[in-house]
Amino acid sequence: MKITLTILFAFFLFSCSQSVSNVSKNEMNEEQAKVSISVEEPINFERDTTKDYSQLSNEDWKGILTSMEYYILREKGTERAFTGEYVNNKKRGVYVCKGCATPLFRSNTKFKSGTGWPSFYDKIESNVLSVPDNSHGMQRTEVVCGVCKGHQGHVFVDGPEPTGLRYCINSKSLYFVPQE
Ligand SMILES: [Zn+2]
Repeated sequence: MKITLTILFAFFLFSCSQSVSNVSKNEMNEEQAKVSISVEEPINFERDTTKDYSQLSNEDWKGILTSMEYYILREKGTERAFTGEYVNNKKRGVYVCKGCATPLFRSNTKFKSGTGWPSFYDKIESNVLSVPDNSHGMQRTEVVCGVCKGHQGHVFVDGPEPTGLRYCINSKSLYFVPQE
């Protein structure tokens, strides 16, 4: 009898620990989903909240991005000046990463730089990272998405107040989500 009870108890404990781990997993997924909803999920732009965008291979990216987007985001390319669709966009909203839909820039920090690329004087916190870039014989600071590490552009110190920074970003590496 004692042995049976012990086995039953052990079984009960095992079932509990299983259900607990399932609950915490679900909570984590919900938490991830909340993050994307709170910044307004882009319309017609799908983001898989179960996918780990930091772990995707080049082949994975080729299946997600167009060839031009791949060239910019994954090969650090630059679109020609004044050709991007967001250069003159003055609408209110959030610019998210074209690779993983992480919100990177707000429209209220966008300014007219005259360079031919969308320009912002500030970023959305740690969603945007800066990396030293000494390519092409220049000392510049590259700007990448904090989640998928996709190339966005460069940041310079000749921007307007209050930051004095100029984030010079490719339209093709962004997706604009309008806000009311
Ligand atoms: Zn990204």
